[in-house]
Formats: sequence, structure tokens, C-alpha cells
Amino acid sequence: DKKFSRHDYSFISLFVTLMSSFFNMKTLAREVEKRMIEAAALRNFEKLLPNLKNNTLTLEEVFSEIAIDLSIDSFIFASKTSPTNNLLKIVLSKGIKVRGWDSFLKMVMEDESYFKEEWVILPVFDEQMTLYGVPAFKLSNNNPSLRSIQEKVLNRIIPQLSTILSHKKFHKESITDELTGAYNRRHVLRLLKEKHKKALTEEESPLTVVMIDIDHFKPVNDTYGHQAGDKILREVVESITKAVREIDIVGRYGGEEFVVLLYDTSNLGAEAIAERIRQAVAREPLVTGAGEVTVSIGYCATVPSGDHEAEMLLRCADTALYRAKRNGRNRVDEGDLV
Ligand code: GH3
Ligand code: MG
Ligand code: MG
Repeated sequence: DKKFSRHDYSFISLFVTLMSSFFNMKTLAREVEKRMIEAAALRNFEKLLPNLKNNTLTLEEVFSEIAIDLSIDSFIFASKTSPTNNLLKIVLSKGIKVRGWDSFLKMVMEDESYFKEEWVILPVFDEQMTLYGVPAFKLSNNNPSLRSIQEKVLNRIIPQLSTILSHKKFHKESITDELTGAYNRRHVLRLLKEKHKKALTEEESPLTVVMIDIDHFKPVNDTYGHQAGDKILREVVESITKAVREIDIVGRYGGEEFVVLLYDTSNLGAEAIAERIRQAVAREPLVTGAGEVTVSIGYCATVPSGDHEAEMLLRCADTALYRAKRNGRNRVDEGDLV
């Protein structure tokens, strides 16, 4: 008489069955929720990638977005300020930027949120093992389920970033002149064709081509050596770049010859810009002791509703450049398309 009644037995087994399926459902629901958070974070990451590719977002900005998506409230991103120097730039969550170890340690020591708990450090390399930076994230240790999402997503995106950075570097190398950092001839000619087409179809988007050639450069090379010459080439590109707007394209056309594409600029605006370039180069003191380095400049603008070819625009600027040379150098001449 100490046995369950048949009725109690049925009742308990029904209860156990119900409860176990209920728990299974709950575990399943948690699992589904986890997958959804993971998928959402990865999808957001995918959306950021084009911005990283076209430089509208930096690597730091991508990491801060990811941190938000993953509910990571503290992270640190350390990188070099440029590939060639060893100055350290550190970005802390909360948008704080610090330079150098001293201020970094001070900031971190004074802020509770950087202490305790485990951090995960994930250096970002490209496929040639160039280091882009070292992000560190504070994971949510008191929430194992969130922590596993954070770990999983971070481990998925780091290799993807590496691939993208490799492609980016490859692409940049393929359009850049190695010595001066200006665009190479091939890339400028490609852009010229594109923009020229646009200039012919849209009256409000005129285009000006500026050709620049260093004056008497051969004697500089012969007297001071090729290395001094190379340095001057780099400095001239720097002066040109500073003299034009960020949207304008500065390219190396050949040895000591440069080409600038001035977007949305007709011959009216172009003259002032060309003159600014000439003055910027002439003003720059030269460390080589080579004395004053000057440039001669020719420019040529598209004509509204004209039907000329891109090559004609280039030739027109080149003709103006040679007129500037003949007329005494260190001067600007305007080309005439018609
Ligand atoms: P002009 O005023 O008529 O332009 O005279 P120039 O001496 O500048 O012109 P020229 O075309 O006779 O000489 C160009 C020189 O540019 C010849 C070459 O030694 C130098 N050059 C071309 N490419 C490079 C380069 O990559 N590095 C260095 N250092 N020199 C270069
Ligand atoms: Mg020259
Ligand atoms: Mg030349």
C-alpha cells in the first residue's frame, strides 16, 4: 500500500514529460536567441566592410561598432600612427584617444572599468604579416552565454578583416607610384577617362587637367645625386598635394612630370589653383641645398558641350606646359582646346 496509485503514476509521468519538454524548449529558445544575436552582429559587420574598403571607416571605428553590437563596454585599440614610425596611438572605448604608454597607463589605472575580468587580445595582421593594430576587448565574464557569443563573433571577424586589409593594400599598391606616393600614370589615366566622360555629359561637372614639370631637374640630379633628386620628387608631390583640394587627383605622369585632375573645375578656377601649385613649390625651401626648385605648369579645361577626347585634353595641357617652358619656366600657361 506504499505504491503510487496508477493515477498518481500517470500524473507524475505526464508532469515529467511536460516539464522536460518545457526545459528543452527553453534551452532551445536560448540557443536560438544566441544564434540570432551572433547572426545580427555578423551581418552588421558585413555591412561595415565596404566602408572599411573605401576608407569611410577606420579600423578603430569598425571595432567600436562591433563592440557596441556585442555589448562589449570596454575595449582598447592600439596601433602605430603610421606604418613608418613607431609612435603609438591608442583608442579607448568611450572615444578617448591617448598617445604613448604614459598617458595610456594613467588613463587605464584611473578607470575601474578597465580592471578585473578577462580581456581577449586579437592582433590584426594582413596576409603579408603586416600588423595593423591590436584590439583588446573586455568580455562579459558574468554572463557565460553572452561571453560565448562575443568570443565566437570576434574569432570569426578577425580573419575576415585580415583578408580585406590584404586586398586593400594590394589595390593601393597597384594604383600608387612607389617613390612619391602619388597615383601612378595608369590610375590617373583611368580616372581621367571616367571624369572626362562625366564632364562632357554634365555641364556642371567641368574637368581641368594640370601638367607639371620640374624645371632644370637634370642638373640637380647630376650635381647632388639621384637620392637628392628622389627626395625633391617626394617634396614636390607633397607641395602639390597641399596646394589642391582633397578630392583632386595628384599623379606622377613620368620621371619629373606630374598630372593633377581638378574635379568640377573650369578654366576660371583652374588658373588660381595652378598658380597656387607653382608658388607652393617655389616657396618650399629645399634641404638638399639644390637651391630653388621650380615647376612649369600647363593646364587645360573641358569646354561646355564640347565633343573632344580625353587624350586631347591631356595633349592640350601638355602643349601649354611646353609653352610655359619656352616662355621662361616657373610659370603657368593656359591651354586652348579649340
Ligand atoms: P626642363 O626644365 O626643360 O624640364 O629640364 P629638365 O632638366 O627638368 O628636363 P629633362 O627632361 O632633360 O630631365 C629630366 C630629368 O629627370 C632626367 C632624369 O635624371 C630625372 N629623373 C627622372 N625620373 C627620376 C627619378 O625617378 N628620380 C630622380 N632622382 N630623377 C629622375
Ligand atoms: Mg623638367
Ligand atoms: Mg620632363
